Amino acid sequence: MLTARGLRKSFGDNEVLRGIDLTLHRGEVLVLIGPSGSGKTTVLRALNGLETPDAGTIEVAGGPDVDFAASGVPARIAKQQRLALRDRSAMVFQHHNLFPHFTVLQNVIEGPWRVQGRPKDEVVAEARVLLDRVGLSDKADARPHQLSGGQQQRVGIVRALALKPDLLLFDEPTSALDPELVGDVLVVIKELADEGWTMAVVTHELSFAREAADHVLFMDGGVVVEQGAPTQLFTAPQHERTQRFLTRIM
Ligand code: ADP
Repeated sequence: MLTARGLRKSFGDNEVLRGIDLTLHRGEVLVLIGPSGSGKTTVLRALNGLETPDAGTIEVAGGPDVDFAASGVPARIAKQQRLALRDRSAMVFQHHNLFPHFTVLQNVIEGPWRVQGRPKDEVVAEARVLLDRVGLSDKADARPHQLSGGQQQRVGIVRALALKPDLLLFDEPTSALDPELVGDVLVVIKELADEGWTMAVVTHELSFAREAADHVLFMDGGVVVEQGAPTQLFTAPQHERTQRFLTRIM
């Protein structure tokens, strides 16, 4: 579905990504773990076209190859390629970023209706089905502030699904939630994984990673230190840095 090669990114003198390679197969759940500041969010933002790497390529099945190092690609084309990446994926953020003055339903339909230009009736009907499946059909007319943090985050997930993306990206979707609300959100993400959605998830929830991930990638200092199946990476990490990180957070 997606292959990234040699992604590099600096913010000023801070080299945040130092050559990231990753492959995401269709229907696969890729979990990115690693210490804070290791570059995980920046990877997701690059896959989503929100961040422009300084070098590297991203290839998406059936989409454009985006070569960030290519000289001679006019800025206009490079921007179109990044927007094409954004069209393929939808991101769920740590903070749900819902529009506070919109109802839940309006938040969900905004992207597919106004941005994608799909018929409003169809989009509203789909939104209601999606809200129902995450247990929020009675909240369609509520404003975000009337919902709990976990409910808001489930609306954030529905909003991403409503865009019908090929790829779902989750950036620490539960880290801003009170502990008792985390489970409900993880259950929804796990169900989507079981349904076959292709997704990349940045999380510190290792038990979720163990259950849901097909592949786990451990990042530190802007590089992929180690990767593998969750059983292998969590029970028999090869690298000292991985071992140290896992002992610290388990
Ligand atoms: P992680 O998700 O692993 O915590 P991030 O990708 O968020 O790591 O950040 C990696 C580093 O990049 C951090 O040092 C962060 O401060 C820096 N960084 C991220 N985004 C920006 C930005 N827009 N401008 C400057 N520095 C940034």
